[in-house]
Amino acid sequence: MEPSESVDLLLEFLRERDVPCPVCGYNLRNLTRSQCPECRKELVLAVGLRKPRFGWFLATITPGLFAGIAAPLLLIPLIGEMVLGGGVAPWFIWATDAFGWFSGLAALVIVRFRYPFLRQPQPTQRTWAAVAWGIHLAAFALLMVLIFA
Ligand SMILES: [Zn+2]
Repeated sequence: MEPSESVDLLLEFLRERDVPCPVCGYNLRNLTRSQCPECRKELVLAVGLRKPRFGWFLATITPGLFAGIAAPLLLIPLIGEMVLGGGVAPWFIWATDAFGWFSGLAALVIVRFRYPFLRQPQPTQRTWAAVAWGIHLAAFALLMVLIFA
């Protein structure tokens, strides 16, 4: 595109439209040349990105990140108790710890593939979040049953 063409598009865009100068905030409505009348900065018309929405992405990785942080913290007393002769914790405590490591790893994999994740439609992202929370709540409920039953 010719430079004069893009200036024409800029001026056309600002005709009858209130847009503040990105530098000084001066209203550029009905601008007549590609320069801010207030701060004298050269102006161009540009394409921006719509603000991406991270809500479902964060909701999906949150339980995994918490489990991933808890897993090594749980492992320390489990091993400590064995070493100090306090006995071996029941299998489902070990299984819970293994689940935590796996869950944290899964969350990191989702973080690694965040761009493909964020490209999915919102309902699909919501489903991922629901699955992530469903798995963790089910695991927690199962653990409670094994501990107290
Ligand atoms: Zn300005």
